[in-house]
Amino acid sequence: LDFLAETDPTVAGLIGQELQRQRDHLELIASENFTSAAVLAAQGSVLTNKYAEGLPRKRYYGGCEYIDGIEQLAIDRAKELFGAAWANVQPHSGAQANFAVFLALLQPGDTIMGMDLSHGGHLTHGSPVNVSGKWFKVEHYGVSPETEQLDYDRIRELAKQHQPKLIICGYSAYPRVIDFEKFRAIADEVGAYLMADIAHIAGLVATGHHPNPLPHCHVVTTTTHKTLRGPRGGLILTDDAELGKKFDKAVFPGSQGGPLEHVIAAKAVAFGEALKPEFKAYSGQVIENAKALAAALQQRGFKLVSDGTDNHLMLVDLRSISMTGKQADRRVSQVNITANKNTVPFDPESPFVTSGLRLGSPAMTSRGMGTEEFTEIGNIIADCLLNPEDEAIAADCRRRVAQLCEKFPLYPHLNVPVTA
Ligand code: PLP
Repeated sequence: LDFLAETDPTVAGLIGQELQRQRDHLELIASENFTSAAVLAAQGSVLTNKYAEGLPRKRYYGGCEYIDGIEQLAIDRAKELFGAAWANVQPHSGAQANFAVFLALLQPGDTIMGMDLSHGGHLTHGSPVNVSGKWFKVEHYGVSPETEQLDYDRIRELAKQHQPKLIICGYSAYPRVIDFEKFRAIADEVGAYLMADIAHIAGLVATGHHPNPLPHCHVVTTTTHKTLRGPRGGLILTDDAELGKKFDKAVFPGSQGGPLEHVIAAKAVAFGEALKPEFKAYSGQVIENAKALAAALQQRGFKLVSDGTDNHLMLVDLRSISMTGKQADRRVSQVNITANKNTVPFDPESPFVTSGLRLGSPAMTSRGMGTEEFTEIGNIIADCLLNPEDEAIAADCRRRVAQLCEKFPLYPHLNVPVTA
């Protein structure tokens, strides 16, 4: 950053401000995390200069001998991490990984089934504003109104009724364990492909803290930057080598050009880190911390969707305190907590307003916080949300947030550049 400050102080200044923001705030967005310094270093490397269309040892450009080694390492580590027979590490993002799978397995007009966005699904699982909703006929399933959890009998009924070619499981805002075996039984009954999008829970899956979808699913997609703590990117896994060949072609040349080899190097580093025992301990702590935060909020009277969490995230249902997600998001940001408004199942509010607040533990666990700190975070959130007009309480919450941030420094080796 010091070097950048000399050559482009404007950009360096903005990066410095963002670093400071990340240091000063409690980051509770469930889909975010802090990579290691090693991941940052690999991503910010000379590999960004290299074109490498194709796959290791089958490239369309010369000079790929070292790039091949890097991409092969990322592939091998991804396979080892998830126990998969095949992997493609090139998707630029989770959305790109999902699109490549659709391109490989489906034709426009085919029927797909995924979770409703407002119940915790992702845009790429058939939302009308995404290509998945524009090109395919979409039948959505949701959670049960009673338990706010997956209702496999209802999903089976819907699958039998609509005969989808692809069923998608795996979500953006579902706090409970997913039973992939049950999903596979449903897919087999109707002759559908089964895809698990484990973008959110990949780190938990890799460390055995959530069941692995691979033995049950035809294909697994994920992002690499959430609980997995790698660089921003996507990944496709399968145990079926024939399907793997189709996915390779769907990524390149089907939907992408040159792979981002600097990001792939950072993925290799992150997968290597995730294979270490420390990462298993980290993932276990992510869940313990989420449970501590959930318990603290419940003790203060908040209702959580499905009454709690089994993973890294929870959804606070704000209807009982007559607050919207939008208001809560704004209120917590006033005390330097970053979270996001989110629909709750059967939400009466629009997606811009919502009745929920989604909270996650991966990022602050990466900073070293444990259950004691997450209990304190729950109490800070409760204090500021239950007293939304009280500026003295907000000031005290900001002080408590600052205390926590100071105790668990972020990227201490990085300087905020001094710019004019
Ligand atoms: N799939 C799920 C379940 C997600 O939650 C997300 C992102 O939040 C994605 C896919 C998309 O990932 P990306 O933002 O990298 O395209």
